[in-house]
Amino acid sequence: MYPENPQRIRRLPEILSNQIAAGEVIERPASIVKELVENSLDAGARSVDIQIERGGTRMVRVQDDGSGIHSEDMRLALESHATSKLHTTEDLLSIRTLGFRGEALSSIAAVARISIISSTGNSNTAWSIGFDPITRDFNTGPAAHPAGTTVTVSNLFYSMPARKKFLRSERTEFIYILETVKRLALSAFDTAVRLQHNGRVLMDCRDIDSPDNRVRDLLGQAFIDNAIELDCRNDSLRLWGWIGDETMHRSQVDRQYLYHNNRIIRDRKLNHAIRVAYSEKIPPGRYPVYVLYLEMDPSLADVNVHPAKYEIRFRETREIHDFIHGCIQNALSGQYAGSARIAPITAVAGSGSTCEDIPGIAEVREFNRDYLHPVPKSSSYFTGDSPPADTRLLGSVGNRYVLAERKECLLLIDVAGARKFIVRTRLEKLGAEESLVSRPLLVPVSIHVSYELPDPEGGFQELCRRFGLQLDYAGPGTILLRTIPLILEEADLQRLLEDILEYSAISWTERTASSLKLTRILEHHASSGSSRLEQGSVNALLHQLVLAGLDLDANACPGIWRRLDCKELAEIIEHGV
Ligand code: ADP
Ligand code: MG
Repeated sequence: MYPENPQRIRRLPEILSNQIAAGEVIERPASIVKELVENSLDAGARSVDIQIERGGTRMVRVQDDGSGIHSEDMRLALESHATSKLHTTEDLLSIRTLGFRGEALSSIAAVARISIISSTGNSNTAWSIGFDPITRDFNTGPAAHPAGTTVTVSNLFYSMPARKKFLRSERTEFIYILETVKRLALSAFDTAVRLQHNGRVLMDCRDIDSPDNRVRDLLGQAFIDNAIELDCRNDSLRLWGWIGDETMHRSQVDRQYLYHNNRIIRDRKLNHAIRVAYSEKIPPGRYPVYVLYLEMDPSLADVNVHPAKYEIRFRETREIHDFIHGCIQNALSGQYAGSARIAPITAVAGSGSTCEDIPGIAEVREFNRDYLHPVPKSSSYFTGDSPPADTRLLGSVGNRYVLAERKECLLLIDVAGARKFIVRTRLEKLGAEESLVSRPLLVPVSIHVSYELPDPEGGFQELCRRFGLQLDYAGPGTILLRTIPLILEEADLQRLLEDILEYSAISWTERTASSLKLTRILEHHASSGSSRLEQGSVNALLHQLVLAGLDLDANACPGIWRRLDCKELAEIIEHGV
């Protein structure tokens, strides 16, 4: 059914069209922080000071010492499609600034109260302008301000109560802001960046001489210690930055920073190039950590694709993809050239070998000790006095595999795979009212975070407790891990805690905290932690495999153990597992 008379077309009032634009640009307080800080960086600021109140819903203030705004342009700055960064169509093809659409301030002014005070430093006077989206009143006048600009945005979405309902808790919104500021601080090494929340300084990157220091402050000492620095160029492209080595992977894609000409971007194809370069280096389901800067002539890319400018269209995507892939692969293999490659154990399907076929156990016992190390006696809490009946530990191969003799056969056991299996089975069988057996840590593991656990009702802590992990606050910004489940005895607890907290922040934000994901994290840490193989823990592990119902006399259990004959053993000694 069509109405008899078509609806007439009307031009939208400016405030409404700005509110529509704001829908794309201003999703949450963090978007305001992003737009304001980008303006400060475009104005050449050497110092940016960000003050946030109540997760940004009450106030966001950004002060810089940049070029300032001409007093006669103050009002224009708040209008849509008004910018100083672009004048002609050609300019659009060679954008070097972060902003260029002239839409940010007008969008913000459509959904919140805004005031700007600015001084160009040329005159003694600063000018201020304020705008209220409901009364639509402008206030302008002289003010006092050092060279630079301060923009204050308050009462976000007060002109659009419906949008306000989509905001999350103060703490969650602040986590978004923190991440946004971190990204910006990593894009401007020569600008000091400070962030305060409710009057507390939570980030203070003052050092403008050392990118290393800034990366360490923002991504942690462990990242810098285990990162490979790279700088590759070809005729038209440069890729530089830091990538985590093969030990530095995470359960989330949360520490992947890729910049294009200093602008953070999300690009599925380029991320893919990086992921593939890492695929042989890190376990499946784990994600690399990197801070990478891709630089090229601006005319080779179109940044005018996405309102918030996160996406970019490249002229030669394939070439860039291959360049990035090559750079990362070289950097990763360069560092590890020469070391034995360790591949997962796969089943010896259909090999048909039986115990009787395998000669040479006597020789195995005489093996060159450089290759086959005795398994040391353990001091671990989680030990077994002896291996299961008919089984004898012969030694370890590398720091992941154990060679055992069982009923005249040789077994090569993947300790990491076995631990993972045990943890997974144990967690899968955990009843709703049950919790894992844990033990207190003599010295709790502590971690410093710049925000508190975003867990107001304690739900995440409760979930962790069921898994045998007791998390406690110890003063502002410090979180302690006090107990661990016995099955994680061998894990690297610092990394485990980092992963859990990172997951808690994200899951809480997304409201998807799940025991399944936590299970995956524990599984991973159970298998990847310790490189010390000790008799006690290996014995205990073998007993547990038997308890879990696995038959150690079977030919193989994919990913956990397999039978060996002497030829295979010789190959292992020659080439690694
Ligand atoms: P865009 O950044 O896309 O140009 P904005 O709406 O963010 O659009 O800003 C409009 C204009 O206001 C900018 O082009 C710039 O000239 C001016 N401006 C905004 N913030 C600042 C600042 N902190 N310092 C100097 N000029 C600024
Ligand atoms: Mg801008």
